[in-house]
Amino acid sequence: MEENVGVSLDSQVVEMVKINESVFCRSCGKQIRSDAEICPHCGVRQKTNVQSLSPKNPGFAAVASFLFAGLGQIYNGEFVKGFLFMAIQIINFLLIFVFIGMITYPIVWAIGIYDAYKTAEKINAKIAEA
Ligand SMILES: [Zn+2]
Repeated sequence: MEENVGVSLDSQVVEMVKINESVFCRSCGKQIRSDAEICPHCGVRQKTNVQSLSPKNPGFAAVASFLFAGLGQIYNGEFVKGFLFMAIQIINFLLIFVFIGMITYPIVWAIGIYDAYKTAEKINAKIAEA
């Protein structure tokens, strides 16, 4: 009996690993293997790896980051980085009152704009490669 529990736990772990490797069909939404080229459920060809990526406008990403730090990153789908930029800029904004922010705020701002532009270009290049 105890052995059976062990076996079923093992198979559950295997099943979880399998789920982690799976993605969802872009047509019917059913779970399929991440390396499947064609969905076994509906037969629609999958674009592997880049299916979560959509073309980005580097100019728009830069303008978004120009308007608000981190916004361009969020547009690019880099949510963690975007919110990190926002958090850093809030701190830098407060640091303006002790003058340090007058230096760090524009630097991080410029990095954010540049990063948003470059990341958008990289995403487009990745899509073009596929
Ligand atoms: Zn499908």
